[in-house]
Amino acid sequence: MFRPSPPASLAPVQGWVIDMDGVLYHDTEPVPGAAELLAAFTDDGIPFTLLTNNSSLAPDQYSQKLAGMGIVVPEERILTSALATAEYLERTASPGSPVYAIGGDGLMRALGDTQVRVTADYREARHVVVGLNRQLTFQHLQDAVLAIGAGAEFIATNPDLTLPTPLGQIPGNGAIVAAIEAATGRRPLMIGKPEPGIFHWACRQLGLPPDSVACLGDRLETDILGGHRAGMITVFVLSGVSTAEQWEEYEPRPSVSFRGPRELLEAWRQRRV
Ligand SMILES: [Mg+2]
Repeated sequence: MFRPSPPASLAPVQGWVIDMDGVLYHDTEPVPGAAELLAAFTDDGIPFTLLTNNSSLAPDQYSQKLAGMGIVVPEERILTSALATAEYLERTASPGSPVYAIGGDGLMRALGDTQVRVTADYREARHVVVGLNRQLTFQHLQDAVLAIGAGAEFIATNPDLTLPTPLGQIPGNGAIVAAIEAATGRRPLMIGKPEPGIFHWACRQLGLPPDSVACLGDRLETDILGGHRAGMITVFVLSGVSTAEQWEEYEPRPSVSFRGPRELLEAWRQRRV
């Protein structure tokens, strides 16, 4: 049976890294209490950043999407796996290094802000970056497979196999990556959650050590596993993808668990009482 944590378990939290889908909204519907929760953190002077594995939109687009649901977050507080991928290439690739990318607007814009050069010609690619692209074609898969086969570095923005939509679970970036993995026999460098690197990067943006930052999410195998690996306080909410039954069995255990943002907000207000 699902057992919410006591408010005092939130007392050590100095900052937050917060997942979006399933925590703040479902598709275009805000989750009850989400806007009030972020407002409370702001009022209390507690820094937070939103972190999503979805690379298809850019931070200003997420900021607009949230504003449309009454959740006001400036784009500077929004991090995506596309930005983390661009940051990785910024650190490791030489200027002008050609990148063949499969992805949406968010990924293309993030790569465009780095020193690498995005190319449509797979034959010259030194890196292949794979992010969610809802206009994916066979040609994309073929080009990526040929470039990786010829020695290009294989990078994936995130491993999510599915994406929740009003229709049900549809293929996520992990499913696209799996097709390329199957055809090449190669494993990608994975950037997004549950890799600890992306959480450490988010904590650096907050200017706080990971052990004082709470990682809030609805997916046990990305948010909770990744936060745990990164040495953070992990806060699970039941408002998204993972179920109470999965929660009961899951290892590593979340440090703290609540039904949803509204219950988390109540506990946050009482954390030092
Ligand atoms: Mg989520």
